Amino acid sequence: MNPALSVKSLFVSYHGNEAVKNVSFSIEPGKLVGIIGPNGAGKSTLLKALLNLIPKDKGEVQIYGKSFIELRKSVAYVPQRSNIDWDFPITVLDTVLLGTYPKLGLFKRPKKSEKEWALQCLQRVGIAEFSKRQIGELSGGQQQRVFLARALAQESEMLFLDEPFVGIDVSSEETIITILKELKNSGKTILVVHHDLSKVSDYFDQLVLLNKELIGFGDINQVLNAEVLAKAYSG
Ligand code: ADP
Ligand code: MG
Repeated sequence: MNPALSVKSLFVSYHGNEAVKNVSFSIEPGKLVGIIGPNGAGKSTLLKALLNLIPKDKGEVQIYGKSFIELRKSVAYVPQRSNIDWDFPITVLDTVLLGTYPKLGLFKRPKKSEKEWALQCLQRVGIAEFSKRQIGELSGGQQQRVFLARALAQESEMLFLDEPFVGIDVSSEETIITILKELKNSGKTILVVHHDLSKVSDYFDQLVLLNKELIGFGDINQVLNAEVLAKAYSG
């Protein structure tokens, strides 16, 4: 069986400064994987390069054994909240509807059935009552739920989330991790950038430990040992 995601010798740089160096790993379907490492370790860069949002210097990324280009619609992405323009005038429901666009195709407007589906996704994350609000009027936790709902609306096989738990309330965090675990149990593959070490063993099956290079990869207990962590978090 092909892995859900395979990354081979990935290199990414900004203006000649290497941010991700020779990273290789592969992930089986149905895993919830944490990408951890200190600030500036290249975690966001790794996700963006996997998604082809920024150019790679070198390396190969395959999803279910196929090139990323063929299967890009099968990956939903929740970017870091701090990188989103929350003044953009768009309602909660319309934000979630954006998730249906890849399936809908170009130039087709969402119909009643898509709107109902978007509302169901909002219900699942527990904020259907805010569907008509502007996204800028929501709290951090509510905004993060909207973006998870958008990812759910996309019905993708894979989900990439960048620091979804930063700056949100406890109840939103619990809702989000519960849904991620449900998705994983239904066979989806999920990558979550997470910058601190708290709760990693409750949340994830496997870890990618990054500090430009791949410092550790595997099941939680293999990666969460003092020696490996010291290597990632020192200097
Ligand atoms: P992390 O998400 O682990 O905190 P990033 O992937 O955001 O790390 O950044 C990795 C490195 O690349 C950092 O040194 C950062 O300053 C640099 N970097 C990130 N984005 C850019 C950019 N757009 N232009 C130049 N340098 C960048
Ligand atoms: Mg980051």
